[in-house]
Amino acid sequence: MQDVVEKVYEQVVARNRGEAEFHQAVREVLESLDPVIAKHPHYAENALLERIVEPERQIMFRVPWVDDAGEVHVNRGFRIEFNSALGPYKGGLRFHPSVNAGIIKFLGFEQIFKNALTGQGIGGGKGGSDFDPHGKSDAEVMRFCQSFMTELSRHIGPNTDVPAGDIGVGGREIGYLFGQYKRLRNSYDAGVLTGKGLAWGGSLVRTEATGYGTVLFAQSMLATKGDSLEGKTVAVSGAGNVAIYAIEKAQQLGAKPITFSDSSGYVVDEAGVDLELLKQVKEVERGRVADYVSRRPGARLVTEGRPWDVPVDVALPCATQNELDADNAATLLRNGCAVVAEGANMPSTPEAIEAFQAAGILYAPGKASNAGGVATSALEMEQNAGRTRWDFATAEAKLTGIMADIHDSCVEAAETYGRPGDYVLGANAAGFTRVADVMIAHGIV
Ligand code: GLU
Repeated sequence: MQDVVEKVYEQVVARNRGEAEFHQAVREVLESLDPVIAKHPHYAENALLERIVEPERQIMFRVPWVDDAGEVHVNRGFRIEFNSALGPYKGGLRFHPSVNAGIIKFLGFEQIFKNALTGQGIGGGKGGSDFDPHGKSDAEVMRFCQSFMTELSRHIGPNTDVPAGDIGVGGREIGYLFGQYKRLRNSYDAGVLTGKGLAWGGSLVRTEATGYGTVLFAQSMLATKGDSLEGKTVAVSGAGNVAIYAIEKAQQLGAKPITFSDSSGYVVDEAGVDLELLKQVKEVERGRVADYVSRRPGARLVTEGRPWDVPVDVALPCATQNELDADNAATLLRNGCAVVAEGANMPSTPEAIEAFQAAGILYAPGKASNAGGVATSALEMEQNAGRTRWDFATAEAKLTGIMADIHDSCVEAAETYGRPGDYVLGANAAGFTRVADVMIAHGIV
């Protein structure tokens, strides 16, 4: 990295001690920005890098709640309002035991550039809690969400900060959160949360959007080589919203997804994933991937290693950060994998990314390829503001158009800065310049 960029990185490490994932996310962006800063010195002169790595606001709060047995628990709640240059802070809430300030900060930082890439008016934010919804009753999840929102409601609003789902936060949680917000404010501000139910302000396609978008991005990358997903085998990790709808779209485009996973292991189904069964197990029953295997002849559960051990043409990491390391990358490459599109946030380690890029395969960073979820959230906000509802085809056509635009912006920026085909540089440079130009227009704030 150039000296000026390196200095910013060192300050980030010194100021945010122990927040390894945040350092990693910042480093990836800053490394890409070398040619951008060299070409446009006014960004450095306006201390744009120093400002963009510092959250505008960071909120941390106590979330006390009572379980079904009457025992009191205390979790920690977070909301990071990272950057509002382009619009209200926008980003999901993650409920997972691994959540801490550093994880939320890395996610919020990624969100700035992802949201900018969508071309919509949304700033970057993120939040969550170290609460684990697994194994909790609906009533416990409800009481937790109500307590969480009792504090969060002071900080959010349709023009201020608009949370949504992420790992551990789906339709059920958004419902409880919205109900409590509405009660506290005595106001039906539909646009304060996205990922809502269809009967109360939600948008068609929001559920499918992240997974669909990831696969559409992979298809666009393949199209630059005159190729397509037709007939390709696909390894998917995760078994949540993103993974399920990545599998669905991949099947629609003629590919054959053969894996998915959760924390208990990964499933290999050489005949191709039975999507209806997977939805039944994960969405209806909230079960484990083993429940799929017990009902699907020919499928097997593997409890050692990762889905990346299975030979495939395309890999779609749709689970969580740093789930694909250098060894996994080497295995994928050895087995002939030629496309990696990230459905999760920062699933590949820096060493894995380096290996993909050195091998010259098509590699899409999550902030570009998984932006379809938040893009459709912005479409939900648009419908809420207009008190209207679009049908599935309308919303899906908009998502498809946005993903194509994101792909083309990445390609164009990579060419502008002299590294054609480098989607990491393309995504970071295109996202950064959009935010940076507006920050300059707004003055030193
Ligand atoms: N959590 C998703 C993401 O990582 C979606 C955020 C949203 O819809 O606001 O982009």
